[in-house]
Amino acid sequence: MKSRIYEVIMSDKIRVRIAPSPSGNLHIGTARTALFNFLYAKKVGGEFVLRIEDTDLDRSSQAYTQNIFDSLKALGLNWDEGPDVGGPYGPYYQSQRFDIYPKYAKMLMDKGYAYECFCTNEELEAEKEEAIKNHSAYVYSRKCLNLTEEEKNELRAKGIKPSIRFRVEHKELMFNDLVKGELKFDTSLIGDFVIMKSNGTPTYNFAVVIDDMLMKITDVIRGEDHISNTPKQILIYEALGAKVPNFGHLGMILAPDRTKLSKRHGATAVSDFVKQGYLTDALINFVALLGWAPSDGVEIKSVDEIAKDFRIHEVSSSNSVFEYDKLNWMNGQYIKKMEIPKLTDMIIPFLSKYDITKYSREKLEKIVQITREPLTVLSEIEHDASYFFEDNLSYDEVREVLDKDLSKEVIQYVIDNADSWNFDDEEDIHNKLADLRTYFKENKGYKPKETMWAIRAAITGRTRGADMAETIWILGKDKVVQRLKNAL
Ligand code: GLU
Repeated sequence: MKSRIYEVIMSDKIRVRIAPSPSGNLHIGTARTALFNFLYAKKVGGEFVLRIEDTDLDRSSQAYTQNIFDSLKALGLNWDEGPDVGGPYGPYYQSQRFDIYPKYAKMLMDKGYAYECFCTNEELEAEKEEAIKNHSAYVYSRKCLNLTEEEKNELRAKGIKPSIRFRVEHKELMFNDLVKGELKFDTSLIGDFVIMKSNGTPTYNFAVVIDDMLMKITDVIRGEDHISNTPKQILIYEALGAKVPNFGHLGMILAPDRTKLSKRHGATAVSDFVKQGYLTDALINFVALLGWAPSDGVEIKSVDEIAKDFRIHEVSSSNSVFEYDKLNWMNGQYIKKMEIPKLTDMIIPFLSKYDITKYSREKLEKIVQITREPLTVLSEIEHDASYFFEDNLSYDEVREVLDKDLSKEVIQYVIDNADSWNFDDEEDIHNKLADLRTYFKENKGYKPKETMWAIRAAITGRTRGADMAETIWILGKDKVVQRLKNAL
């Protein structure tokens, strides 16, 4: 018998889903939930489904839906079934499934698992206030549970449209959470809850069960903010005689100050991170580490590498802290190892303030190559590489260096000898700079770094920056000589 159960489980193809509501751009927390579902399914050759839960038509928008598509794709979390790609269990927009739910609500009513409730908002509010007064948790009074057909008809004649409530069986409900382990609930604390609103639309808890059931979802992995919904959903599955999926609830993502991550802490939408210059490879790597740790301790990993090592029951059941500093570090690591042509393509939008057409592609790539080292986000390039693009450099930062007699002497010397330099040849510039250091050291006793400070200050307006020979090669003779003169 045991082996038979095993067979049944093994033959069930793992099917997971992400079911975002398009009432905002894709949140980084939803991206993590999507990733963990994706990893869980991919590891065993399962399927990853995208369902858009857009039943709240006032709060949903097509723009947000598009943002969800674009962000998931940019992160490499491609779905096997969904609104755009279709699949055997569509439609995958909940708003296109409105005609499905009443049938199942009726089925539950016919079997005595659900009943019509004619209570008005005022009556329900009064019940709630009474509970507050008595310091007791609110549960619906079941006032409408035993209405006769006659009473219902009378209420209907008055124009009251009923909602449909699920009749909660009072018991101890237990389930084995994939992440949190065994969880127990006393269902008598839940109260009979509404599954269909009086306007004929389903509530979240009902729609989600019907959809997951019909879409043959085997495992529901989501944020722990949904834990209190899970007993309600299990009761509905049981009443329908459907197979209850596995549930796994992930700890929440908190801001460094241990409050809910929100816009006041920084970006929260995937697209905002991208706009600021975070690479999607770094972002997805970073979110994987929110609750999961690689077995070999190596944190920089691609999604494919993570998938091989990922086990849902090893995911931490506690909350994770979103350390922006760590994300910055990780993003910097990805920037450092990216191919220069690709990085250049990604950096160009962050240079929109400048006229980049004055440089050839070769020189642009060189600028990227020599300035990327300290970058943590791509947007920093606008400041870090500004001296390649600005016509009038500010010398405020280097006034002290330029005011030195030593510096003036070095700068004048380079101006006087510029004609003997080959500015088209990086190698030659490199050698000339070396000669310059030697000349001033041997003849004047100036330290090599003092000589270089003077040159750098005059040509870039900075005290530090990219390699000097390469910087001079990129700028070219005219600009370099002009800047040396301006600095004097
Ligand atoms: N639309 C729900 C949400 O975005 C889905 C929750 C679930 O995964 O069941 O929170």
